[in-house]
Amino acid sequence: MPQTKDKNAKDSGILIVSQSKPAKANCWSCGAMRAAQFCQQCGKVQPPVPVDYFTFFGLPYKLNLETGKLEREFYDLSRHLHPDINAIKSEREQAWALEQSSHLNDAYRTLKDPITRTEYLLRLQGVQLEEQSKAATEEARRTGQIKKQVVPPGLLEEVFELNMQLEEMRMNKKMGEIDRSLERELEDAKKHLQDKYDGMMQELSATWNEWDAQVDRSEQGETVLDEDRLTVRDKMVEVLNRRNYLRNLLQDIDEVLES
Ligand SMILES: [Zn+2]
Repeated sequence: MPQTKDKNAKDSGILIVSQSKPAKANCWSCGAMRAAQFCQQCGKVQPPVPVDYFTFFGLPYKLNLETGKLEREFYDLSRHLHPDINAIKSEREQAWALEQSSHLNDAYRTLKDPITRTEYLLRLQGVQLEEQSKAATEEARRTGQIKKQVVPPGLLEEVFELNMQLEEMRMNKKMGEIDRSLERELEDAKKHLQDKYDGMMQELSATWNEWDAQVDRSEQGETVLDEDRLTVRDKMVEVLNRRNYLRNLLQDIDEVLES
């Protein structure tokens, strides 16, 4: 497909250009202020604006985030939007405060954790992660069906062998037999996979740095090629999917060992 080079063309994926400040608006009451949840001049609560979580906090679309600062901001806003504080305000403002407050909680919960933060950014980038099918996994677990999951290429062999061992272990348990050496093998496999899983935070964090560097470059007015942006984005998706796959696998091992 030919790529459109029209600068005005809307690409839902382009979020590199940061808009660290929420859409500007004036206070409905005193006319002052930068858009935010409440007016910094007169203190009136502002009507909620539908914005994504990064924008809500006035943050650029970066993945390295000072969680301490985010937390302070969260508590500060929570105080200002708290029903008790706003009890003497107009009904309209109280309703706004409530709505803002619930948006605030969602935004904070999503952004404070680096994994959900990454997943959220990817969602904004139009990516539907395999793990979004978590419900499908749960359903498969419940019904005892095997969920079709794509095995990450680097794990194929290991997973194949592991699944055979797990199956054997399940059978053993059903028959009331104990195979200590198989048990030990599974425990070794678990440890090995757990190390792999833990090591992936570093891999992820490397992709965050790459992403953030692009945001920085873009903020400084440099052109970031779509293809570069997509490369980093897809790398993040790949790592996350592999990580989720490993987590499910570890759960399977635990289930069999503890059954
Ligand atoms: Zn005002």
